[in-house]
Amino acid sequence: MKGTSHLFVGTAVGAIAGYAVQPDIRTALIGAAVGGISGVVPDLDTNGLASNSITLSKKVSKWLMETAGMVILLTLIYQTVIYGLSSDIYLYGGIGLLLLIVSRLITQRRMLTITGILVMLLGLVLDQSPGVLLAGSYIIIASFLPHRSYTHSILGIVFYVYILKQLYAQWPVDGLIAAGTAGYISHLFADMKLLPVNRRGVKWFLPLWKREF
Ligand SMILES: [Zn+2]
Repeated sequence: MKGTSHLFVGTAVGAIAGYAVQPDIRTALIGAAVGGISGVVPDLDTNGLASNSITLSKKVSKWLMETAGMVILLTLIYQTVIYGLSSDIYLYGGIGLLLLIVSRLITQRRMLTITGILVMLLGLVLDQSPGVLLAGSYIIIASFLPHRSYTHSILGIVFYVYILKQLYAQWPVDGLIAAGTAGYISHLFADMKLLPVNRRGVKWFLPLWKREF
């Protein structure tokens, strides 16, 4: 199923779940937002709506790295010509070359890995928030997984609910856990082979049983 459809379904079930926890408009709206996000999270394992919306564009990052690498190297050459060799040449030369090499190799998925690392750093800054640290680790892991594998399984749900619980422990927002769980699970159901739009199904029981449902 497409990202926008998942977003729609997640938003709807999230609103219902939020309202079930506490029947007021505010909780339903928070539930809708959390459910919508959670409804696209499992597809962080592929290029699409979810990963593209949290990742810096590959083109922009590539250009930034190339430019930074060139500027560093040209400055270094200029300095060496004017002032002669300095001991910093290896360090800065290394950084400049590394940037140029990485800019050649970078893919959209590795940009997602970098995003996950940044989220983990954010977690460290935010009083070592376990929820944010785990969310970052989820993104990093998803960036290496094949599409429709562990993020689309019961194991993935368990990990995601654990992250929600850690986030809730730090920021107790009513409906967060219920709406997040509902949104995530709605994604897996919407990806099942039962629906004719899906050619591939969901391997609910990975790694024990690899059957697609
Ligand atoms: Zn999916």
